[in-house]
Amino acid sequence: MDSHKVDAVVIGAGAGGLCAAARLAHGGLHTLVVDDKDRLGGRASTEEIEGFKVNIGAIAIEFGGVFEETFHTVGAPLDIRAPEPASSFFIDGKVIDVGRGGWSLLLGQLTKQASRILEKFADARSGNLPDGRQSTEDWLKGYTSNATVHALFRNLCAAIFACNAAELPARAFLTYFTSKGAFKKFGFCPQGTIGVWNSLGSAIRRNGDIWLGTPATTIHTANGRVEGVTALRDGEKVRIDTDLVISNAGPKATVALAGSEAFPADYLAKVKNDLRPAANIVINVASREPLINHPGIVTFGRTRRICNMANLSATCPELAPPGWHLYVAYAVPVPALGDFDSDAEVALALEDLREQFANFDQAKILSIRVMRDDWPAQRSCAGYDLPRETGIEGLWCVGDAVKQYGNGGTQACAETAKIVTDAIFAARPRRSAGRV
Ligand SMILES: Cc1cc2nc3c(=O)[nH]c(=O)nc-3n(C[C@H](O)[C@H](O)[C@H](O)COP(=O)(O)OP(=O)(O)OC[C@H]3O[C@@H](n4cnc5c(N)ncnc54)[C@H](O)[C@@H]3O)c2cc1C
Repeated sequence: MDSHKVDAVVIGAGAGGLCAAARLAHGGLHTLVVDDKDRLGGRASTEEIEGFKVNIGAIAIEFGGVFEETFHTVGAPLDIRAPEPASSFFIDGKVIDVGRGGWSLLLGQLTKQASRILEKFADARSGNLPDGRQSTEDWLKGYTSNATVHALFRNLCAAIFACNAAELPARAFLTYFTSKGAFKKFGFCPQGTIGVWNSLGSAIRRNGDIWLGTPATTIHTANGRVEGVTALRDGEKVRIDTDLVISNAGPKATVALAGSEAFPADYLAKVKNDLRPAANIVINVASREPLINHPGIVTFGRTRRICNMANLSATCPELAPPGWHLYVAYAVPVPALGDFDSDAEVALALEDLREQFANFDQAKILSIRVMRDDWPAQRSCAGYDLPRETGIEGLWCVGDAVKQYGNGGTQACAETAKIVTDAIFAARPRRSAGRV
């Protein structure tokens, strides 16, 4: 078996893995990233379909916060373009642009109980939050029975957390909207989201390497410490020795790679009982005639399953061949955290799109992808996150199963990378080591 020695191995080139690898490499640790796919970005990557650049997962990249800071820190250009206006609501066939008025303007138009809900947002901002057991739906029922307001909250939960309002703790919802980024300012990458990862990949290669199409098959441990990784490269097993492994494969896959006997019982119990993968459905649509003119993302009001839709080519025309518009619509099944009938859920989502857009049947569906199980929308729903520490010295997890409470998306993944790499650098002197 071929063998190598590096300072750190990162398993998985998703958002969390690449942000972690870039920080490690920038901090002086020679870092090797291995990923089983043939492209960067994991669930936030991009594929080419009939000349369109079609995103698999994330499209909206937040300005500000840890994500953008990661790119600045490691010297990677971040090419994202903001739609103007960015976020609006699409209710009863009309775009409602709430602009700077935000929640108060939107709720004020829909319900007389707006002030009661807004008071609770103010309470949450000063730290007075419901406990983690009450769902967002039950919390909202305490203040209004307005069906459109309930539909909007459901669709916001679906759009941001890939779950239903009955499945998301109100505490997580309020934490996100009162103290996290909440997608107030975001942009799309004109090369497709893979463009941001290619930029980060170049920064990693200044002090490391990335092996694509290379699954890690084993994480080696002894006496509670990590010792290395075996990966399958060009069909050959390669042993990589290191005392630092960051896994972006998710806690369940990480346990399978190292073997459950290597982990403390309390960690195994959390992996078994606490993870709640969340599902969504991604419908990529191209059309010659516009479906909607709003350039950013619209969140829908009363629908069966569809929650939001982005008009990508309005801001980034290079994503589509000339003369075409490119949209992506998202739906969330019921339940999103349990088993569901994929075909039936997709049919409901398509019914919604036909109802929302009179000319939808003239559009071309480029792809429909159901994100679920081991390739989910969120590896664990907000409010059900695992620790980044695994109980094995030198082995950490990053990514959307180990987020900070109430955070979401690629921003949350970048934050996991910062927390883990800050802890690593605080505990060890900076040095550089062997080459791959
Ligand atoms: C449809 C959809 C829309 C979304 N929209 C947005 C959005 O607009 N904005 C936003 O910020 N977020 C969005 N998100 C969320 C965001 O895309 C995810 O939270 C994020 O991409 C997850 O990244 P991660 O770090 O957990 O890694 P992952 O994407 O899970 O990547 C992990 C990588 O590890 C690889 N891997 C696994 N096992 C192994 C192994 N044994 N060996 C080698 N490699 C391995 C996988 O193949 C994968 O490439 C969306 C998600 C979905 C699904």
